[in-house]
Amino acid sequence: MANQSTSPAGTRIFTPVHKRTGVRLRIPVRSDTQIPRGRRWQTVIRDVRTGQVYRAWNKSCGLPECMCDAYVEECSDRIQQCRDDLKEDFGEPDDLQE
Ligand SMILES: [Zn+2]
Repeated sequence: MANQSTSPAGTRIFTPVHKRTGVRLRIPVRSDTQIPRGRRWQTVIRDVRTGQVYRAWNKSCGLPECMCDAYVEECSDRIQQCRDDLKEDFGEPDDLQE
């Protein structure tokens, strides 16, 4: 099967920018993880390889009003804690894919 991706079955690669370092990451996430585009959003994602949980939220790609890119930063590996933190900062998180 031709597959240019290195991600394991059932996953896909999410490529957000790390908020603190500015480095673009390649994070394997479940393929059904919803990454919204084009509006203000926030969610919680999990690196399926390392188990690290990240907050992810909208980032402008540089075009006015365009939010097609994403930031992440590490957060608690307890997803509920991460969601609670998000709620304080942003309001109710979008649905989390466990
Ligand atoms: Zn854009």
